Amino acid sequence: MRLFLDYENKTYWGSKGKYQKTYELLFDKLVPVQDCAVTIEGELLRCATNLMYDYYNNGSCNMADGVETQCDYCNGSGSLDNEDYVPDDEDNDEDMFVDCDWCDGYGYTDGRRKLSDRAKQMVKTLKEYLPEHSHLVSQVVESITGDKHYNYDYNHEDNKPYELLMDGVVEFAINKQKEV
Ligand SMILES: [Zn+2]
Repeated sequence: MRLFLDYENKTYWGSKGKYQKTYELLFDKLVPVQDCAVTIEGELLRCATNLMYDYYNNGSCNMADGVETQCDYCNGSGSLDNEDYVPDDEDNDEDMFVDCDWCDGYGYTDGRRKLSDRAKQMVKTLKEYLPEHSHLVSQVVESITGDKHYNYDYNHEDNKPYELLMDGVVEFAINKQKEV
């Protein structure tokens, strides 16, 4: 038997989502293998599933692009004047500089991450059709671009918006399907 980690309990990722059975049925029915669903509820399921998958599986690393900013301390050179430098007869130029502490000699520091174009499109679709859940979508965006990104340690403390958003998408899909 598979053991469930804490964050997997009652999550779609752990196959124990609130509407797990319905979610799986609707997904199989509405989301084609190709990358574009025909119905809006299928499209929403596809978007929410992709965001959730990348969050749990890759720490959302495929949903955002890193933005690097030049280090203010060394102006991007990665090195600083060595204050302990004492000129001597041997021409040791490299002693004149030391690696910048601030950026470890890299010249750039990690800035905030930016949503990828693909993620931007999914976020837009979700907000457009689920305005009542737009705060959850915003929290998802925050989790992708915020400081806690890239957590391969699988400590998914900020997974709530993904789960609640999926509940909302499934509810939307159930209602849409009733109309047909
Ligand atoms: Zn620097």
